[in-house]
Amino acid sequence: MGAGSSEAESGRGKSAIKGIERCAIEVMRSHAGDPDLVEHKVQAVVRLSQRARMSSTYKPALLKAIARISSRRPSNAITLRELGAEFARLFWNQTIVFHLRQAATITKEPEVLGQIRKVSAAAGVRDFSRLPRSAAMAIEIAMAQILTIDVLRRFHNNAPVSMTPLFCWVPGTDYIALTDKARDFVVANHTVLDLIANHWWAGYLEKVNVLAPAIINKVQADGARRGSLTAYLAILAGLDEGRCFYCNRVFSEALRPSVDHVLPWSFLLADPLWDLVLACMDCNLAKSDRLPERHFMDRLVERNVLRSHRHSAIFSASPSIESGQEYRLYEAAISVEWPGYWVPASTY
Ligand SMILES: [Zn+2]
Repeated sequence: MGAGSSEAESGRGKSAIKGIERCAIEVMRSHAGDPDLVEHKVQAVVRLSQRARMSSTYKPALLKAIARISSRRPSNAITLRELGAEFARLFWNQTIVFHLRQAATITKEPEVLGQIRKVSAAAGVRDFSRLPRSAAMAIEIAMAQILTIDVLRRFHNNAPVSMTPLFCWVPGTDYIALTDKARDFVVANHTVLDLIANHWWAGYLEKVNVLAPAIINKVQADGARRGSLTAYLAILAGLDEGRCFYCNRVFSEALRPSVDHVLPWSFLLADPLWDLVLACMDCNLAKSDRLPERHFMDRLVERNVLRSHRHSAIFSASPSIESGQEYRLYEAAISVEWPGYWVPASTY
């Protein structure tokens, strides 16, 4: 075998590659502009999300609501009340649980978000599913009403020319209509559409909630679900002196310790050891997801310095932050108007 045959092989290899390239180009050409191809439809929705002008987050919320409802109940018609109910749940969690702004300024904030805050405060409820049915329905109806003002009409504005609309809505009717093809596409691709909606929504929220951590997780989170903290009870008992972090009472058979997030879990969406302390149940329940008064941050920072010296093996196994970063996150929570501040009741 001489060099010539190897060259011939190499030549055949090159022509085979060229053949594949030609074939690929032909395939691409034959599909170009074919609006029925799934990847083209997905790309069109992505482009819509990139081109959309937004002053609030209704558009990604609508995409998310359609994807969710279709995944549960494939249909050519989705009523505005169904969409309103899904909107109510989505905006409730983001407003009441995660305290995220949905618009650049508070004066521009959609009126219904103010209503959500008012209803939550009046009923003393943070979990949407525990809201009295009449109050939940009032929010759902308000949301359905907002959809008819301009959300449905403007959803496809600036869509790429090749995009087949996901739905159509005739003013005066109480439902949106999906063609068979649109319905099949949404049902088969609801997970992808949900991801696009989350990315779209989080991108906007990052602009208007500059210092809030874990925004993409807050958008994805389907309500406030946090893991069990039982495992931390033993770890913290090994680290801490046996007193409540807040009221300083000594733990005993009568006063059992519990694990508390100093900066609320719903702000960090994580359980790093540096944020966890032992607190009595009275303080833990009373504090809820509020921020403690600032002097507790001094106590936390001091405690974390001590912990990292005395228990570095345990401490370094958990996501750590540089000493003093606790204050920055505290300031960040204040800057996004996290509701606070809390101090233990003097009667303890
Ligand atoms: Zn206490």
